Amino acid sequence: MPELSKRIQSIIPSPISALMDRARKLSAEGRPVIDLTVGETGLPVPDEVRSAGIRSILLNETGYTATCGTPELRKKLGERYGVGPECVAVSNGAKTILGSLLTVLTDPGDEVILPAPYWSCYREMIRIAGAKETVLPCGAETSYLPTADMVRQACTDRTKAVVLNTPCNPAGTVCPGSRIREIASFCSERGIFLIVDGSYDGLTYSGETENPLSLLNAAERAVTVYVSSASKTFAMSGWRIGWCVAEPCVITALSRIFTNCAGCPSAIAQAALLKGLETYPEAPGRIREECRRRCGYVAGRIRKTGVLTCPDPEGGLYVFVRLPDGTDDLSFTEKLLEDQNIAVVPGSAFGLPGHIRIACTKPLPLLKEAMDRLDSFLAAL
Ligand code: PLP
Repeated sequence: MPELSKRIQSIIPSPISALMDRARKLSAEGRPVIDLTVGETGLPVPDEVRSAGIRSILLNETGYTATCGTPELRKKLGERYGVGPECVAVSNGAKTILGSLLTVLTDPGDEVILPAPYWSCYREMIRIAGAKETVLPCGAETSYLPTADMVRQACTDRTKAVVLNTPCNPAGTVCPGSRIREIASFCSERGIFLIVDGSYDGLTYSGETENPLSLLNAAERAVTVYVSSASKTFAMSGWRIGWCVAEPCVITALSRIFTNCAGCPSAIAQAALLKGLETYPEAPGRIREECRRRCGYVAGRIRKTGVLTCPDPEGGLYVFVRLPDGTDDLSFTEKLLEDQNIAVVPGSAFGLPGHIRIACTKPLPLLKEAMDRLDSFLAAL
């Protein structure tokens, strides 16, 4: 067989999916595994949204649409961000958009600043694009967030873009608007792109789904690309729909990739999302409240252990736990699964060892059971 490309040989599969597969396999073998690996709320999609999807099927409105989404949906999203439809592209989830964006914004050899902890897929997306990640560790000392100064120090002549994820997967932190503005201002001075991944923006516990673009001046906006998704906010992960807001030239460039490699997003998902945006101008509060309750509960239990700490969850689905100094997160995770049947993701998968990520994806009684088991695990260490 001929050799596969050099590029693909250095790409690793998502460690989170690999852990989820392992947890599922153990469950199938009869082990009472509580799987807290993958970020899905498990909550139902709001009724209006589901009905709109079903309606589009019944009306047979299921053909190809325009590559970057229907005019109605782009217009609606544009209104949300205070831009015209030409600044919006819709595609098959934020993953497709982010992966395509890195190809659009970088050339092979360029560097992309990636604050850690980072969502593990960014690193591989950067590498697939032929660029190189510059990991910027942001630990507990900086509340798991980069500052503009830290970004400045990590910047070299080869830097082409910075990735900022808020609310952050895995840290659960929200980057304050003033900080986003400082980083955007630096990026605009240096002439580099700022990619803001707001895939969890509808799960900001303060209830304010801040539009970061509204905080920026024209020069800062020109270098900023905002990405978001219906996967978490509307619990629509399997519907595969997300969007991007950027300068029209970035949107046109993205559409060149979509038209050749992805096609349009699902017509059904687009109809459903349009209804969702009309019904919930901010985001469905029920889903956000449930995530807040779950993460608040888990964070409280983590602090009660007396040996583990975590930042206050401010948004998203996760609690990021700092292990006692010197603990190896990989063996901790492995042993937790072996001894107590709890599956979590080691911080190493997010570029920050010494931590674990707990996805608060199960109802409260199961999370309580998981935290009880964690207490027993710690007691036996
Ligand atoms: N961005 C972040 C930070 C994520 O955690 C995820 C999914 O877990 C995505 C993007 C991808 O979302 P989508 O389902 O829209 O592809």
